[in-house]
Amino acid sequence: MTKVKSIEDYAKWVDKMWVSFDDTKRSDDRSLTIASLGLAGETGEALEHIKKHFRDGVFDETAFKKEMGDSIYYWIKILNNFNIDPMEVLQMNVDKIEDRRARKVQRGSGDNR
Ligand SMILES: [Mg+2]
Repeated sequence: MTKVKSIEDYAKWVDKMWVSFDDTKRSDDRSLTIASLGLAGETGEALEHIKKHFRDGVFDETAFKKEMGDSIYYWIKILNNFNIDPMEVLQMNVDKIEDRRARKVQRGSGDNR
């Protein structure tokens, strides 16, 4: 089993695993389509566990973690397709949220608060 030590390691591992069942490399367009739809689907699967938590009072933490991992797999693959460093995205998000908090505009709507 591969041990992942950083998000960069994980991003490389995702590309290594990203092959079609017939062992041919997928085109970038096909990969982006599959990864985008995969992210939407896996996010929905994760959210189902939260729904069951509120609706039924049960929360399967292991299953939820697996779905969140599936979501991250596709999230990373989308970034890889555009050659975007995931750490850059994480840092941009930290910077944006800290800036909003400092300006007390965290709540509300609109991307450019
Ligand atoms: Mg899943």
